[in-house]
Amino acid sequence: MRRRDREITDISVMESIIRGSSVCRMGLCDGGRPYVVPMNFGYRDGKVFMHSAMEGEKLDIIRKNPDVCLVFETDLEIVRAEEACSFSMKYRSVIARGRASIQEEAADKAYGLNVIMDHYTGKEFEFPAQVLQRIVVITVDIEEMTGKQNV
Ligand SMILES: Cc1cc2nc3c(=O)[nH]c(=O)nc-3n(C[C@H](O)[C@H](O)[C@H](O)COP(=O)(O)OP(=O)(O)OC[C@H]3O[C@@H](n4cnc5c(N)ncnc54)[C@H](O)[C@@H]3O)c2cc1C
Repeated sequence: MRRRDREITDISVMESIIRGSSVCRMGLCDGGRPYVVPMNFGYRDGKVFMHSAMEGEKLDIIRKNPDVCLVFETDLEIVRAEEACSFSMKYRSVIARGRASIQEEAADKAYGLNVIMDHYTGKEFEFPAQVLQRIVVITVDIEEMTGKQNV
C-alpha cells in the first residue's frame, strides 16, 4: 500500500469494518470483462455469505471463475473545503479476495441466511422449505484482506 500511514493491519479492526458495513460490493471477472455487483451480506469465521435468486449473471460468472474481490466501507464523510483540492473523504474500508462457492443444500442455505439476518438484525430465523428452494447462498472464503482508513 502506497499510503502506509493509512494502512490497517489488525485483523480484528478489519473484521469490525466488515461487520459495520451495510453493503458488500462483489467484483467478478468474466474472462477479461469485470462485473461488480452490490449485495447484502453476513460475515462469520472468515467467510462472507450472500443470498441470491437461482439464476443470473453473477452466478454464471462464479461457476466459470470463483475468484472474487469484495469491498466493504464504513464511516464515510465528505470533508468540505474552500479549495477543490482540499476536499477529502473520511472512510474505513476493507478489500478482501477469496473464492466463492454456491450452496445448494437446504441446511447450508439456512445457515447462510441466518448469518445474513444476524448481520442486519442480531437475530436468527426459521426459513420455510419452499423459500430455501427458491434461493442459493453464495459463500466466499476470504483468503486475504487489506484495510485502509482516512479518519
Ligand atoms: C444495496 C443493494 C443490496 C443488494 N442485495 C442483494 C442481495 O442480497 N442479493 C441479491 O441477489 N441481490 C441483491 N441486490 C441486487 C443485486 O445488485 C443484483 O441486481 C442481483 O443480485 C442480480 O444480479 P445478477 O448478476 O444475477 O444480475 P442479472 O439479473 O443477471 O442482470 C444482469 C445485468 O443487469 C445489470 N444489473 C444487475 N444488477 C444490477 C444493479 N444492482 N444495478 C444496476 N444494474 C444491474 C448488469 O448490467 C448486469 O449485466 C442488491 C442491490 C443493492 C443496490
